[in-house]
Amino acid sequence: MRFIFYFVATGVIVIFVALLAARLIFFQDRNLPPILDFQRIHLYKNPTTVVENVRVFAFYAVPSDRAEAIYPGWRDLLFEALQRLSRFHEIQFVGKSHIQYDVFPEPIILDDEGGAYDAASPLDEHHVGLRRAFEEFERELTDPAGNDKVRKFLGTSRDQYRTLVFLYEGAGAYGKEGLAAISRRALTDSRYSAFGDSWLYHQFAHALGLPDQQDSTTGLATSDDIMGLGRHRPLDLNYIAPELTRGMGLVE
Ligand SMILES: [Zn+2]
Repeated sequence: MRFIFYFVATGVIVIFVALLAARLIFFQDRNLPPILDFQRIHLYKNPTTVVENVRVFAFYAVPSDRAEAIYPGWRDLLFEALQRLSRFHEIQFVGKSHIQYDVFPEPIILDDEGGAYDAASPLDEHHVGLRRAFEEFERELTDPAGNDKVRKFLGTSRDQYRTLVFLYEGAGAYGKEGLAAISRRALTDSRYSAFGDSWLYHQFAHALGLPDQQDSTTGLATSDDIMGLGRHRPLDLNYIAPELTRGMGLVE
């Protein structure tokens, strides 16, 4: 008699535990927040585009009349600058967003002469001439008669956020979602090179959707970080303001 009691009691307990486990595994309340809510790093104020893995395709762009004045060592210059950019980015996003980069092996010779693209100074930002150079480049990519080597180089970057980076053999800087450009002189001229890396990251930050931190009428910086005053400070002494990284999903 006692044996039957123990047998039934054990059976009831086993069924109860099994039902409880099934409830936890298969019937979780969908309205409850997930137990582990991983924030994903995304474009500034745009959580639909995740930028945890950024793929940078870098080019050296040269106006047609400067093809004879190609900067020796441009490829190493670009590689090393991207290496520093990538390290800074990794630290700023505490390892939650990574950059993979590659440099196209040949200079890209633009259709027009430098005068058609150049800004007044290497630090002249958002210059229309440079924008034209990149629109021309993008057009070439969709043209069947365009640069096949470049198309192969770009390939498909699934699950990665693609960003084009240009080192421009002339004056000007440009940055918009998915694209960043700086003057080669910003990295090599003694007047600019101390903060050339910051200038490159500043444009790259525009490629991630970050806005300039400056007053739109006076043009004066409204922050101390790399999107404001910091753009003219060495990269080693720079940072991205927490309110900006927060806008990209980073939780401190
Ligand atoms: Zn800017």
